[in-house]
Amino acid sequence: HAKESGRNTYRFFTEQMNANALERLQLENHLRQALDRGELLLNYQPQIDLATGAIVGAEALIRWQSEALGFVPPGRFIPIAEESGLILPIGRWVMRQACLHAKAWQEGGFPNVAVAVNISALQFRRDDIVATTREILAETGLAPEHLELEITESLIMQHAEDVLDTMQRLKALGVRLSIDDFGTGYSSLSYLKRFAVDRLKIDQSFVRDIVEDPDDAAIVRAIIQMGKSLKLDVVAEGAESRAQVDFLIREGCRTAQGYFFCPPVTHEVFTRVLGQGTGVRLGELQVVALSA
Ligand code: C2E
Ligand code: MG
Ligand code: MG
Ligand code: MG
Repeated sequence: HAKESGRNTYRFFTEQMNANALERLQLENHLRQALDRGELLLNYQPQIDLATGAIVGAEALIRWQSEALGFVPPGRFIPIAEESGLILPIGRWVMRQACLHAKAWQEGGFPNVAVAVNISALQFRRDDIVATTREILAETGLAPEHLELEITESLIMQHAEDVLDTMQRLKALGVRLSIDDFGTGYSSLSYLKRFAVDRLKIDQSFVRDIVEDPDDAAIVRAIIQMGKSLKLDVVAEGAESRAQVDFLIREGCRTAQGYFFCPPVTHEVFTRVLGQGTGVRLGELQVVALSA
């Protein structure tokens, strides 16, 4: 009996593994056609200046509405896009689309609203990200200071020297660089200076419990202070409540994004939110979120 059940367990695991591999393959095949089929789109989440309540920018977040698979969240398909190399054409599309939309916001009367784009490690190392960025800026006419590239802390730490070189060449183009999910990796302070970074984005896992958890509060406070000393802008991600926002303001955090202000919305809705939202005082910002 033991032998038999062992075999069954084994078979169960291989079947499970095959099912997972099959699902991945299926996802990859559909993803391969997603761009051509127009199934990808970008959402934008406003970034709020906590001193004025103004919308100073937006982060572009990709969405995939697959005809065959339904809605697939980025956390599920971005890793597959990276492993398959599909992130290269997808990443170029994201950057071009985001620059076009930012250009449209600016021409619609918001000349200082910037756009932030997430750049995956593979794009940084395998694509000629500097040439791609230069071409897309020239093609779309967006001023480089209105494009921000978000890279992760782990990318910097894993590939320090060639990443440093690429970052410096990007800075020479005039684009801004930020470190996403900051605090989850192991960057040293001296690196931050060397890497010519403009902003740190505090990971939402630290922001989530700042009100209740003294350790998280201490970490967020330390990052804000470090940003001040190094003259880096600090953006808090995932601000969901008034109490979290009050904490961030009290500690001197400059910029925040999160459901408290506005969820990621389409280009069309973001354009409307911009119309209602700029210059709105902080106490009324929830109105912006509700009407989005
Ligand atoms: P991220 O860059 O750290 O983006 C922040 C994530 O937090 C987004 O998830 C956003 O929708 C979510 N978020 C925003 N406000 C709140 C809040 O108040 N509370 C909570 N709990 N979450 C909030 P999303 O859109 O599912 O994206 C997940 C990740 O996928 C992103 O994390 C980013 O790493 C990646 N990603 C998204 N778009 C792209 C893209 O165009 N290219 C690449 N390479 N990666 C992307
Ligand atoms: Mg990001
Ligand atoms: Mg993040
Ligand atoms: Mg993330």
